[in-house]
Order: sequence, then structure tokens, then C-alpha cells
Amino acid sequence: MTPDSGPGEQKGQPGLVSAALSGLCPRCGERTLFEGPAQLADECANCELDILSLERGGRFVGVVTMLLALVLICAALGVDEWLRPPLWATFLFWGPVTIASVVFALRFYKTMWVYHQYEERQQP
Ligand SMILES: [Zn+2]
Repeated sequence: MTPDSGPGEQKGQPGLVSAALSGLCPRCGERTLFEGPAQLADECANCELDILSLERGGRFVGVVTMLLALVLICAALGVDEWLRPPLWATFLFWGPVTIASVVFALRFYKTMWVYHQYEERQQP
């Protein structure tokens, strides 16, 4: 059982999702990229890669989060219209879903950005 590498895989960047989930350093592959749920470390604790300087310029993070929150709120309102669940159920469901989605989106976005910057610096 090897990780899926079918036609759906993005070009040359397999495992970006798992890198985001586990917070893998782009250089040494250790789980050192994040020091908090959605907080990048300043540098890799293993190979001392300067993550902070790689992150610089990743200013769309706020926009991405806002867009995602907007989408989720719209989805929540849509489900509300459709199913008319009790209010407590709405909060119980959408609270964790929203938090998890925002954290994951931030992790994924930051990982993508850092990997992109890292690859860019590898070019002569
Ligand atoms: Zn490292």
C-alpha cells in the first residue's frame, strides 16, 4: 500500500497535504515547520532552515481566512434554510467545523507558501 500517486496528483509536489498536516520541514522533512496549530516556527529545530524569512511576503493569509470564513458562513446559512436544525445543533456542528477548517486552511496555505519560497531559492 503506497501513498496514492494517481492522475489526481499535482505536478512534482506529492505529499503537500501531508506536509501541511504534519508540518514537515521542506529541507530535512522533520516535523518542525509548525510550533502551534497554525503558527509557523521561526526556524527548523533540526536543520536550522530559516522558516521566518521564507514566510515573509505571505500576506494573503488573512484574505484566505476571511474568504473561507465567508464560504463557511454561507454554507451554514444554506444548511440552516434546508434542514432547519435546532440552533444548538448549528453551533455544535459549525463551531468545530469552522475552527478546524480555518486552522487547516492556514496550515495548508503557509506550508504551500514556504515550500514555494524554498523551491524558488533553490534556483540559481
Ligand atoms: Zn529542517
